[in-house]
Amino acid sequence: MAALSPAVDSLRRMIEKCRKAVFFGGAGMSTESGIPDFRSAHGIYQQAEGKSYEEMLSIRYFLNQPDEFWHFYRTVMLHPEAKPNAGHYALARLEQQGKLKATVTQNIDGLHQDAGSRRVYELHGTVRRNLCLSCGKTYGLDTVLAQQGTPHCTCGGMLRPDIVFYGEPLNSDVMDEALRAVMDCDLLIVGGTSLTVYPAAGLLNYRREAKLALINRDATPYDQRADLVVRDPIAAALDAAIPQ
Ligand code: ZN
Repeated sequence: MAALSPAVDSLRRMIEKCRKAVFFGGAGMSTESGIPDFRSAHGIYQQAEGKSYEEMLSIRYFLNQPDEFWHFYRTVMLHPEAKPNAGHYALARLEQQGKLKATVTQNIDGLHQDAGSRRVYELHGTVRRNLCLSCGKTYGLDTVLAQQGTPHCTCGGMLRPDIVFYGEPLNSDVMDEALRAVMDCDLLIVGGTSLTVYPAAGLLNYRREAKLALINRDATPYDQRADLVVRDPIAAALDAAIPQ
């Protein structure tokens, strides 16, 4: 394994000193679990019609062309075989140690919960929950995986994944909880996100006195404002910086 940079030591010291940290993560958190960023995965899937992922993940597309949507969703968005990586486990550990007050994620894969994290705010929903459009009954991912094409409820209604489609607002309860956690934290660790997707990226502006540590392979618009920037692979960095 490649040696980690001195920035990881700085992160470890920041975590040692903090009392109430919040982690805010994006797609980069799950790439080491074998889940590609859907933006690049969509490029590989690339339909003959050449539809953008914004269109294929829009509520209008889902309602108008459910079969096409579900094919795309199963091919690009679902990764039932994916397992949490060392970064997910490290964050769960920090929560157990009483120092991590919340994990806020833009991911819909449920891997933080698989690793043992309890207070997880999923800004864009989750593939693990699906709702019947007719009766509201909820189903797990297993139901979706067990059916072909557009999955249906026992009542005959069509299921939708409980994710936030383009064209839909974020869940305001989830967003409120996430904002409250960010306002109250003394260390905000942001990882695996380019911080270009709003309104989620706007969360950073709600931090008060908290230190800001960014872990991302590439530069982000917030690098200048961060107290620490870490370029190391996120899973290894978190695992090394968070006590066993
Ligand atoms: Zn139903």
